[in-house]
Amino acid sequence: MSLSIKEAAEIIRSGGLVAFPTETVYGLGANALDRAAVQKIFEMKGRPETSPLIVHVASVEMARQVVAEWPPLAEELARQWWPGPLTIVLRKQDSCPVNVTAGLPTVGVRMPNHPVALALIEEAGVPIAAPSANRFTGLSPTTAEHVRAAFGDAVPVLDGGPCTVGIESTVVAIEGDKLKLLRPGMISLGEIERAAAQGAEAPHPAPGMHEKHYSPRTRLILVRSASELPDRTGAYVWRVALGPAARSVRMPLDAAPYAAQLYRVLHQLDAENWPWIAVEMPPDAPDWTAIRDRLSRAAGR
Ligand code: AMP
Ligand code: MG
Repeated sequence: MSLSIKEAAEIIRSGGLVAFPTETVYGLGANALDRAAVQKIFEMKGRPETSPLIVHVASVEMARQVVAEWPPLAEELARQWWPGPLTIVLRKQDSCPVNVTAGLPTVGVRMPNHPVALALIEEAGVPIAAPSANRFTGLSPTTAEHVRAAFGDAVPVLDGGPCTVGIESTVVAIEGDKLKLLRPGMISLGEIERAAAQGAEAPHPAPGMHEKHYSPRTRLILVRSASELPDRTGAYVWRVALGPAARSVRMPLDAAPYAAQLYRVLHQLDAENWPWIAVEMPPDAPDWTAIRDRLSRAAGR
């Protein structure tokens, strides 16, 4: 039996957890204003409390309920990219529980571009704190099936089909009139900078970003070409050169469709129990920055 948006919203309002689709990945959501509800997210995921959550909103007005300031730069970024895969980090309001932000004085807010997510947030009437709906360090889910595989019946899931962006949002902090990239995503820092017409600092790691993250259980190795495959026994995810592996998956040549499929392919290969999964590293070009980031983390380097 599938869950309706009304039922899911009722669960959120009464302090429970619901997994829901967004355009990036599926989220494990709780009422962002309810500290006890948010605590359940950390427990369910096995996520360390040092890792902040993103607060999902259905409007700029709702975002302004959790932040202490809404500078013109935030307004500009929201106007350009919301709803969309861009998280904006700003000083938090006191009413925002400390566990949402892992004790940080800032909070990340985002308006997702998915009709089911927006309907859920609107119906619940509260902002929804949500990390990806997977166990800590595991691969992020891009289908309802992936969420069920991770949590079984412990978490009700709203099914909104496969995620169209497929990797986690770009995270930028606004500090005064400066932008700082905290996590690359499919919206590049270059695009954001051009839009904001502002200087920005070089990428630096976000608090709570762990080296090994977004990982399959199977050993994942990054190769430059098929000639670097260890042997013929594993699975090879390639773009441009077919390899001699036992199993081989051809990926799109463009970054956006590649990202949309990446986690689904890795979940699938992980479930097939190959001795290793080799991925041909995509080019060192701006379009591919976020994908290269996630692949490096998945490979544990
Ligand atoms: P996840 O929801 O699993 O994709 O993780 C949320 C990520 O958003 C964190 O790991 C951080 O990279 C980033 N993030 C959320 N809130 C903040 C914040 N207040 N300051 C810095 N980074 C944040
Ligand atoms: Mg995650």
